[in-house]
Amino acid sequence: MALTIVRDLCTACGDCEPVCPTQSISPFKGLYKIDTDSCTECEGEFDVPQCLDVCMEDDCIIAA
Ligand code: SF4
Ligand code: SF4
Repeated sequence: MALTIVRDLCTACGDCEPVCPTQSISPFKGLYKIDTDSCTECEGEFDVPQCLDVCMEDDCIIAA
């Protein structure tokens, strides 16, 4: 289970990168990308996915 960033909606604000407990978010081609191999959807660490919680863009982070 992992989340992914919709490139058309990401504004590259960077807010999601530092809140990820698994360091799965990194800059990629001018925007940001989630590594679906290491994203855990924050299970066991937080009640809600932290990137989803901080992202201000509707529907920008969705199920991979
Ligand atoms: S859901 Fe959690 S583990 Fe996955 S990218 Fe977002 S903050 Fe990181
Ligand atoms: S918080 Fe949302 S808009 Fe900002 S870089 Fe992350 S995915 Fe993109």
